[in-house]
Amino acid sequence: MPSRVQEPAAYADLPDALAAKLTLADAPDPAARADADAPPPPFESRLEERDAVGFETAVAYALKGLGEGGIPIGSALVHHQANGEAWVVGAGHNERVQRGSCVMHAEIVALEAAGRLPPHRYRNMTIYTTLSPCSMCCGAILLYKIPRVVIGENTTFKGDEELLRSRGVEVVVLDDIACKEAMSKYIEANREEWYEDIGKVPVDDGEESEPVQVVAEPEPIKVPVLELPQEVESTKGVSQFFEDFEEMLTDRL
Ligand SMILES: [Zn+2]
Repeated sequence: MPSRVQEPAAYADLPDALAAKLTLADAPDPAARADADAPPPPFESRLEERDAVGFETAVAYALKGLGEGGIPIGSALVHHQANGEAWVVGAGHNERVQRGSCVMHAEIVALEAAGRLPPHRYRNMTIYTTLSPCSMCCGAILLYKIPRVVIGENTTFKGDEELLRSRGVEVVVLDDIACKEAMSKYIEANREEWYEDIGKVPVDDGEESEPVQVVAEPEPIKVPVLELPQEVESTKGVSQFFEDFEEMLTDRL
């Protein structure tokens, strides 16, 4: 199988093309169909034909992220239909580098792209991600009770898969060579960005062990001065603060 990791520039606009092909933008609103929320046929094997669109979209977004100079992790959220169709309702890639974001992991971006949805709709969904999801993303998966997660690889990083399984989520790991290659090459060349993304302090012989140790800052950090609302006066005593707070609430509710 040819590697999917090629010159990033060649893939820079792939997701748009793919989106057009897959009618990502035209995917009908599930709410528009009377049977939209009818349960899909059960998944009988780890990976089925209807998984292709989600995983390919996740990979395409990972490569788009790489093309933008970002961390190559992509994700897609797919709504499964009773007739076996699979609709990509949200997709995205890690945006730590591009947006200077500490929370925009691929899975969160895909969830955000799908917008606000009624809770039952997530129950017929699978989230595809090129890399094992971290604690934050597993938290979002558990929060919205997404029942199935398909993961490209978990060799370069293993997130909270066991937590997902312990809460009844079906976890499928594909051990995809291309996903692994993209991540290992990225990590090798961008250690700082990578360890920042998983909240770990890099140490000489790899990564810090658990439990994490508090590391002294090499130099004091400058804390930005926040503009506090007028009501907040730090010189107040605690009891006075709560009295004022209660008064404010009574006024506003
Ligand atoms: Zn994450």
